[in-house]
Amino acid sequence: MDLKAIEKLKKNVYEANMLLPKNGLVIFTWGNVSEMDREAGLIGIKPSGVSYEDLRPEDIVVLDLSGRLVEGKMRASSDTATHLELYRAFPFLGGICHTHSRYATIFAQRKESILPFGTTHADYFHGAVPITRPLTAEEIADDYEQNTGKVIAECHPDPEGIPAVLVANHGPFTWGKNGKDAVHNATVLEEVALMALYCQGKDPVGSDILDKHYFRKHGANAYYGQ
Ligand code: 13P
Repeated sequence: MDLKAIEKLKKNVYEANMLLPKNGLVIFTWGNVSEMDREAGLIGIKPSGVSYEDLRPEDIVVLDLSGRLVEGKMRASSDTATHLELYRAFPFLGGICHTHSRYATIFAQRKESILPFGTTHADYFHGAVPITRPLTAEEIADDYEQNTGKVIAECHPDPEGIPAVLVANHGPFTWGKNGKDAVHNATVLEEVALMALYCQGKDPVGSDILDKHYFRKHGANAYYGQ
């Protein structure tokens, strides 16, 4: 057992989860963050239904990619199978965040994607944030959480360029290079969703602005920052 990797995951996942209430993305226990150490093949995730005031680093549940418990006394997040499905579907992912943040969830409930209305969006998401189809009755009845991951993978046109998705009737999932990065993207998504709600019916930006702003910050020719 890679004890060093387990301890690091627990610390990182605890710290990333604690950013959710700090950034105003969750109330009560409405969210969860996980992180994956690809080299060790281990995933750390928030325990289910534990309030952020009570959460401690030692409560983080550690699993392998098949969902086998590696360490932890608590039951893992109810959304664990969704996280595992996304780590399997998108092999570049290092962290995943799920919230019920207000404005992103409004779009999920309206079953509408979030169009890129400005450079705030284009700096982070290279296109509309997609919406999944609703799950079928069969998909809800059996393996609901894993099927949620499957509909995300099925609908997503560009998981590397657009590190976010809206699950119809449910809420947003975001991802990134680690747990904190996934929370960062969830925080940006919430701001972008609020702005987009006031821009409904207006024209989204063209591909010139979208490309300019996205590639200024991402990829081989990025020149934003130090
Ligand atoms: P858990 O507490 O089981 O992670 O559930 C939180 C949540 O947001 C469910 O969608």
